[in-house]
Amino acid sequence: MNIKNDSRLETLIKASDLTINLAAICTPADYNTRPLDTIFSNFIDAIPVIKYCTENNKRLIHFSTCEVYGKTIGSFLPEEFRKDPKYYMLKEDVSPCIFGPVEKQRWSYACAKQMTDRLIYAEHAENGLKFTIVRPYNWIGPRMDFIPGVDGPCDGVPRVLACFSNNLLRGEPLKLVDGGRSQRTFLYIKDAIEAVLLMIDNPERANGQIFNVGNPDNEVSVKELAELMIQVYAKVAGVPSSSLSTLDVSSEEFYGKGYDDSDRRIPDMTIITRQLGWKPKTPLDKLLDDTLQYQHQTYSSAIKKVLSKPSN
Ligand code: UDP
Repeated sequence: MNIKNDSRLETLIKASDLTINLAAICTPADYNTRPLDTIFSNFIDAIPVIKYCTENNKRLIHFSTCEVYGKTIGSFLPEEFRKDPKYYMLKEDVSPCIFGPVEKQRWSYACAKQMTDRLIYAEHAENGLKFTIVRPYNWIGPRMDFIPGVDGPCDGVPRVLACFSNNLLRGEPLKLVDGGRSQRTFLYIKDAIEAVLLMIDNPERANGQIFNVGNPDNEVSVKELAELMIQVYAKVAGVPSSSLSTLDVSSEEFYGKGYDDSDRRIPDMTIITRQLGWKPKTPLDKLLDDTLQYQHQTYSSAIKKVLSKPSN
């Protein structure tokens, strides 16, 4: 069901031991083009979920985002300071949340998510809500996102792995927004699911905690990600890697006005390791290999059909 305006919400929360709120718009292409839906789905629509959990004394696992940290302190400092982890490592109980100005609507998502985190925390502090907040760091893998024109709108812009998969399947250049300088750490979805299962199964270790869930060892720039995906996909699809390329595009051209970007996201893993003993397992090369094999098997014939249709 859609949690927005559905009268069954409270009855369902009352009947359950645990509510996991995954409802969100969490695709960057929407943040500056559908800012109202972004703010409502990530903040306003979550308010009744939190309220019913508190009132009925039910446990809540809420999905927040690593984007609440915004830009790193290092991004504002001269190059020589940026190598020091204290200027880029993102820690749940220490790091500030640094967003750009209001007209950069990219940050409406982070701001809405942060407000929800604060509301949950306040319900906990004042009314004893049993909560766990999850901050995913670029979870990727099979069956995440959509491929435009196949299982999503033709003009839709999914997250980077699906954008690049779509480009590779179509034999188009991979588009590097502002040169692909931003850095990300990628976590395999199967590792992430293990972390969430540990939270579900260990309420006494997970309640009252905010967890970064990511893989600090899988850091690449977006440009490096594109180059890696080209190498892996060439092997998977049996095509020469020289037939695949990248293309620099400006962020305004790609996402429109009001886009901005997080420069770097390295999760500090202290809290999740201490509380749940969880560590990510899958290195980036294996993750890309599994995911691109899945994308090729699942989508290549559908894409061929789309490409063979005459365009109007
Ligand atoms: N990006 C890109 N080309 C694309 C899609 C995304 O260069 O076709 C960049 C985007 O500008 C950002 C990074 O890839 O720097 C990750 O974007 P994503 O949409 O996956 O989510 P984010 O990590 O920003 O929330």
